[in-house]
Order: sequence, then C-alpha cells, then structure tokens
Amino acid sequence: MTVHFPFQNSYAALPDSFFARVAPTPVAAPRLIKLNRPLAVQLGLDPDLLETPEGAAILAGKTVPEGADPIAMAYAGHQFGHFVPQLGDGRAILLGEVIDREGVRRDIQLKGSGPTPFSRRGDGRAALGPVLREYIVSEAMYALGIPTTRSLAAVVTGEHVIRETALPGAVLTRVASSHIRVGTFQFFAVRRDTEAIRRLADHVIIRHYPELRATERPYHDLLAAIVARQAELIARWLLVGFIHGVMNTDNSSISGETIDYGPCAFMDAYNPAQVFSSIDEMGRYAYANQPRIALWNLTRLAECLLPLFSDEQEKAVAQAQDILGAFSDQFSAAYQAGLRRKVGLFTMRDGDEALIQDLLDAMAKNQADFTLTFRKLGDAAADDGGDVRAQFMEPAAFDEWAGRWRARIALEPQSAAERQAAMHAVNPMFIPRNHRVEAVIQAAVNDDNYAPFEELVQVLAKPFQDQPDYAAYADPPLPDQRVLQTFCGT
Ligand code: AMP
Ligand code: MG
Repeated sequence: MTVHFPFQNSYAALPDSFFARVAPTPVAAPRLIKLNRPLAVQLGLDPDLLETPEGAAILAGKTVPEGADPIAMAYAGHQFGHFVPQLGDGRAILLGEVIDREGVRRDIQLKGSGPTPFSRRGDGRAALGPVLREYIVSEAMYALGIPTTRSLAAVVTGEHVIRETALPGAVLTRVASSHIRVGTFQFFAVRRDTEAIRRLADHVIIRHYPELRATERPYHDLLAAIVARQAELIARWLLVGFIHGVMNTDNSSISGETIDYGPCAFMDAYNPAQVFSSIDEMGRYAYANQPRIALWNLTRLAECLLPLFSDEQEKAVAQAQDILGAFSDQFSAAYQAGLRRKVGLFTMRDGDEALIQDLLDAMAKNQADFTLTFRKLGDAAADDGGDVRAQFMEPAAFDEWAGRWRARIALEPQSAAERQAAMHAVNPMFIPRNHRVEAVIQAAVNDDNYAPFEELVQVLAKPFQDQPDYAAYADPPLPDQRVLQTFCGT
C-alpha cells in the first residue's frame, strides 16, 4: 500500500504570479518523531501508512506524494512596522489541499523543507527546537478551542542546520484552513495589480466566507468579516494569556486562525506589558498591545482592498474607515464576555466591568499567576478561596476583592457546583508553560529523548481537566526555571 493524499488543489490553479513552483529538497535520513494520528484521520489520511518509512519520507519532503502540486506562496509584509515588498514562503512548501472529514478545505504544508525562490539569505530549513515548539503550542491552542493552524507531524531530517551552533534539522507538517495572510494582499497592492487583488479576494470569499458570495458589496463585507474574526481571535488570545510575539502582517491570517508560532509564549504572572520575544525590543507586540496591533494590520489590509471598494479614493477610504471602526467594539464585546465567564458571572450588571478590572489590577500588582488565579477562582465558588489567595504576593489584596465578588455572585441563582463547572470549562488548568516547553526541547535536542515531549503534548490535549497525576504541569516556574526570553529560531 502506498500513502494516498486525496489532494484537491485550488491555490496552485491561481495565476503564476501568486507563487513559485518548487519541490522540497530531499534530506539525508528522515525519522518520524511525531504523528498526530487523530488529525491524520480527520484529513482522510491513513495514520498507519504515514508511520511507515515511506510516510516519513513524504513528511520530510524526501518524496513528493501523488497529486501534490508543491508551491511556495508569494507574500509581502510589514515586519515590526517596516514594509518588505517581497517575503514569501522562504522555508515552507505547500504540498496541496485536501477536503477534511467535515468538508473543510485544508492546506498541507511542509515547514523547513528546503530553499525556495523566496528564501533570500535563509537556508530554507528549520531547527528541531522551533519545530517542537510550534507542534506543542499550536496543538495546545487547538485543545483550548482557539482557531489555529495545526501540526500533523514532526520529522528530524538527519541533517544539521547551522544557527548560532549546529542543531538537528527538522520539518513540521502544518495544516491550515489556508496560508493566505494580510501580506498576501500587500504583495499585489504594492505592485498595483488590482486584478490579482480581485482574484485573491474572490478565492478567499469562496474558501473562507462563502456566505458573502451573493451579497451586494462582497469586498466590503469581506473586510468586515475578517475584522470580526480577528477581533474575536485576539480576545481569545488575551483570555488565555497568549502572546504571539511577531504580529507582523505576514503572520496575520485572513481566515482568522492563529498562525506562525515563533517566539510566542503564554505568560505566567499577569503583566499587561509582558514581552518574551528577544527581537521585540520596543514591546510592539506586548500582551496588551495585541488588539491595537491587530487593528493596525487590518488597516493595512483595508488599504489593499480600496481599489475594489470604489474608483473614488475618498469614498473608498471613508467606507474602509467605517468598517475598521467596528473592530474596537467587537474586540471589547468578545473580551468582556470572556472575562465575565472567567469569573463565573452568568448575567450582566452595572459595575461588572470595574469589578473584573479590579481583579486584573490586583493580579498585576501582586504578580499573580494568570492561569492558576482563574482556575482556582472556579474552586473558590465552592470553597474558601485559599488556593487563589496563595497566588497573590499580598493575599489581603484578594480578600478585599473576593468579598465584592461573593456578594455579586450571590445575586445569581446558580449553585456553587454549577458555577465551578462553568468556570472550569473556560479556565484551563494546563497551558504550555515556557519552562516546560524549554525542558522538552532540551531533552529532545541534547539527549534525543522524546518522552517529555510526548507527555507534555498528552497533558495539554485536555487543558480543562484536572489530571491529578500530572498536577506538576500546572505549576508556574520556580524563580530559577523562569524563561525570560524566547527566540524565533529561524
Ligand atoms: P517568520 O519570522 O517565520 O514569519 O518568517 C519571516 C520570513 O522569513 C518568511 O518569508 C519566511 O519564509 C522567511 N524565513 C524564515 N526563516 C527562514 C529560513 N531559515 N530560510 C529561508 N527563509 C526563512
Ligand atoms: Mg511568518
């Protein structure tokens, strides 16, 4: 039996200017280190066959499967605010698209599979550490219910990549509802290729927003729909303490999925100004800046779409501003509703927003662990709140707030058990804590030991369950375990 991918490629049928045809570069000795079996099944692939040497060769880019039409996608992008007219897939190759079991079209892409015409000075390769990081964090996001690209497989290539030192090379197979980015539109906008922008917008509508096909102003509605999905996505990030780290326009997905896991991280202690990425010296992509940056990126997208709005520039700009104007309210609505759920409120009353903000302020002042404070607050619905207090440097800061919170929840009819269950369903026990991710990477890179990786992935697959046997995975880092910086690792 040979591995069969039921490819139905659509992006590769777009005009030549959209991509470069390029095959992956064969590697020395591919070895499969992880296959996401449930995801394989969902994609209509046979997991047993993918685990054979033939499967590993495909997932490493050594053999191209039947029906693939490998391309590197063209895109541009603002990186830390500076526009680069040509980026493109420099180390990623789209093998093709399949329709999954739910009828959703999904890209299957190899990341780290060799140079492409867009590689610039890069080697087209990925090191094992960042591949494992993306695998862990993207699958954790999925388990948290947050829209994201997924990880189908990780292979080591048997070759070294040269970064600061020689590191084991690896390839990640990434699955996305598409890899179209804000930067994809920018690629054509900077070339003043309005026809290509229209082709791309039509492709995006059919693929991600089919309900807009027959509307009167599909391109306006498209922008509005993308704005709405981004507002929702960023709210979801904030509600779990996620910091993307490189919200460049080329890392901003049109489908509303989280994409490009580089120096991303979850924060431990709550700090709105938190930054982990070593290259984000100005804090542009700090935790609390993310909504503002998303709107900035969407504004760049709107600029690309102006020629589709109206021939009259002023009119088009006014229409775009009108649509972008919805972002703040949409973000706030999603964020506030999420916060209300996190503190266990079933109804909405005057003063709720201030009550919740006071908790966040106290958490920031007291370096309270973001994840555990909310998780243990769920238990506090049914107990005296001792475990929440313990998260605060000055426990009295919580006591004062808890009195107001208890008075507020007493106005609702739900039982303590009901409230606790509802809170536990939205407040995870387990997130991919930096120090755990780092430890897993060290074991794999230094000792070729993947047992810690497997265990971490398994725990993070059920983030809302207590899993007493793995309780230590919920712990914040000890002072000497703290990871202060993360790296792109490219
Ligand atoms: P990223 O920071 O991963 O979003 O990548 C930004 C741009 O740099 C994209 O165009 C990537 O394809 C490209 N890039 C990153 N790493 C490499 C590499 N090792 N070789 C070639 N291109 C790369
Ligand atoms: Mg990128």
